[in-house]
Amino acid sequence: MTSNATAESPDITSVEVPTHWYNLAAELSEPIPPHLHPGTKEPVGPEDLAPLFPAGLIAQEVTPEIYIEIPEPVREVYKMWRPSPLIRARRFEQALNTKARIYVKYEGVSPVGSHKTNSAVAQAYYNSVDGVKKLTTETGAGQWGSALAFAGALFDIDVEVWQVRASYESKPYRRHLIETYGGTIHSSPSELTEAGRAILAATPDTTGSLGMAVSEAVEAAVKDPQARYALGSVLNHVVLHQSVIGLEAVEQLALVESGGADLVVGCAGGGSNLAGLAFPFLREKLHGRSDPKVLAAEPSACPSITKGEYRYDHGDVAGLTPLLKMHTLGMDFIPDPIHAGGLRYHGMSPALSHTVELGLVEGVAIEQREAFAAGVLFARTQGIVPAPESTHAIAAAVAQVRDSYAEDVVVIGLSGHGQLDLPAYSEFLAGNV
Ligand SMILES: *Cc1c(COP(=O)(O)O)cnc(C)c1O
Repeated sequence: MTSNATAESPDITSVEVPTHWYNLAAELSEPIPPHLHPGTKEPVGPEDLAPLFPAGLIAQEVTPEIYIEIPEPVREVYKMWRPSPLIRARRFEQALNTKARIYVKYEGVSPVGSHKTNSAVAQAYYNSVDGVKKLTTETGAGQWGSALAFAGALFDIDVEVWQVRASYESKPYRRHLIETYGGTIHSSPSELTEAGRAILAATPDTTGSLGMAVSEAVEAAVKDPQARYALGSVLNHVVLHQSVIGLEAVEQLALVESGGADLVVGCAGGGSNLAGLAFPFLREKLHGRSDPKVLAAEPSACPSITKGEYRYDHGDVAGLTPLLKMHTLGMDFIPDPIHAGGLRYHGMSPALSHTVELGLVEGVAIEQREAFAAGVLFARTQGIVPAPESTHAIAAAVAQVRDSYAEDVVVIGLSGHGQLDLPAYSEFLAGNV
C-alpha cells in the first residue's frame, strides 16, 4: 500500500455529497432488537411514535432498505459544507513516532462546528413536510441544540431546547448560538415541566443529565399537538443520517489508499457520529473488501459499552421514552460533569450496541486527562482544536499507534471543533482537570 498524497497533503474533498444514506442494519444477519412500548412492553408501532416524530422519521426507524434516498432539500443544505474533508495528519504522525498513516474525517466544518447538523437538517426537513411548527429537544454541551436551532431556522420551525444544567452554566457560548439562530433555551431540570419539577423537588442541587433533559423535552412535545420532539443521537434514524460521514470517508480514502482502513476510531456518547463514520467501513468488511477494526472511545466517567449492561432500558429518567435494547449504565445514572458534555449519556445507540454484540465494534474507556493531552498534541501539530468529545477518539487512536512500526491506515472521526470549549482546555492546561 502506498500513499499518493503529497507531503503537505491537501484536504481530500473531491467526492460528491452522497445521494443516499446507508443502513448497515439491513445487511446484518440479525436485526436490531425492536424498541418496546414502555407500558405494554410490546414492540412500538408507528402510532405509538406519532406524538413524538414525523412519519418520515418513524419509517426510517425500522426501514429494511439498505440505501435511502436523501431528499433534495436536505442534500442542498448538506452541500453548504459537505463533503467534509478527510485530512492526512502527517505532523501528528511524526509527533507520535509512528509509521501508521492517520486520517481524520473532520465534521467541525459544519456551520455549528459538529456532525450534529447532518441529522438536524434531515429531522427539521421531515418535520416541515408534516407541517410541524415547533421542535423540542435536549442538549448537553449545546452542540445538538445549536444544530437543531440552525436547521429550524432553515425550515421555519421554532426550536425549544432544554440544556443540562452543568453545561448551561459552564458553557454559555452555545446557548448564545442557539439564541442567535432563533431558538429558545432553558436550564434542565426546569420548573416548566412536571418531570423537571419532580427532579428539582427531590434533588435541587443536581447537575442535571441528558436523561432528565430528554424527559422534559418529550413531555413538552407530547403536551403540544403542534410540536414534535427531536433526538440528537441514539435512535436508528439519527445513525442513518450520520452515514454521510462514512460514505464520504470510504470514497475519499480510496483516492489515496488502495487497501481501505485498518482501524476506524470515533468517540461514542449516544453513538451516532461513530456509527455514521464506521458503518460504511463495516459495509466494506461485510463485502470482503477490507477488514477494519472499529473502536468506540467513551469516557471512563460514563462507560456504557465497557461497563454497562446490554439490556432494555429507557432513554430518559422519567421513563417516557420507548425501551431501547442497548448498553446502559441505568436510566438514573448521573455521570460526573466532565467537559465532554456530549458523552454524558447513560445509554448507547441500539444500532451501535448491536454491532458491539456481533463483535464488529469494540469499546475502550478513556480518562479525561488522557483525552485532553491527545487533543492538545493534535492542536499543536495540526492546528485544529478538537471538541472535548472528539479528543477521546484521538486518545484511543494514539494508544494504538504511538511508537508503532505497523503501517496501518487509521481513520479518526473528528466529530467537531473545540473553539467554543476553550475554557475547558484552559483548565486542563492549568492542571485543574
Ligand atoms: C454530541 C457529540 C458527540 C457525541 O454524540 P454521538 O451521538 O456519540 O456522536 C461527539 N462529538 C461531538 C462534537 C458532539 O457534539
